[in-house]
Amino acid sequence: MGWLYEGVPDEEHEGHAVGVLANGVIPAYGSGGRWSELEFRDGWWSAGGSVDDPGVEPAWLLPACVCGWRGERVGYDPQAEAAARGQWDIHMDDVTVYFLAAAKAAEGFVSALQTAREEGEYDARPLAVIKALRVTQSRVGSEIATAVGAARARELSWELIGEALGVTRQTAHERYREIEAVAAQE
Ligand SMILES: [Zn+2]
Repeated sequence: MGWLYEGVPDEEHEGHAVGVLANGVIPAYGSGGRWSELEFRDGWWSAGGSVDDPGVEPAWLLPACVCGWRGERVGYDPQAEAAARGQWDIHMDDVTVYFLAAAKAAEGFVSALQTAREEGEYDARPLAVIKALRVTQSRVGSEIATAVGAARARELSWELIGEALGVTRQTAHERYREIEAVAAQE
């Protein structure tokens, strides 16, 4: 059993770390006509039965998912599995973003505005539309800042926050460094 995400079927996304040897080779074994890469879990190769254990520790762990996603390999040490798992969690954040109430709200907002535009509201009362949207713009900005504070409270890097914002690590830091690290939930 690999890493699972509640509510997502394991045949779609199940994460694990595969071991990579110092020469870059990922040990694999054949069974039933297909090859599988050897996982490395809890300090052990997942080799069993007729499968040979490579006999050495891996040099790296490579996070992987049954959907085909691969992360970046991490140097093997006692924290490597947790680091690999952290990458997979971020992959699942991307995959499951549409489960979020916040994502549904954003989608509903965009589609409501499209309706307003199609029904002629923009043409009939452009200034009123600008004012309405200006209020929303500042509200969205403060919601993003709150989420950035929550990300800092979870000690997520500026690199990851920048990626989520669609800007560089440096831009994210410059823009939000004054934001305190606080959980959004009081
Ligand atoms: Zn996946």
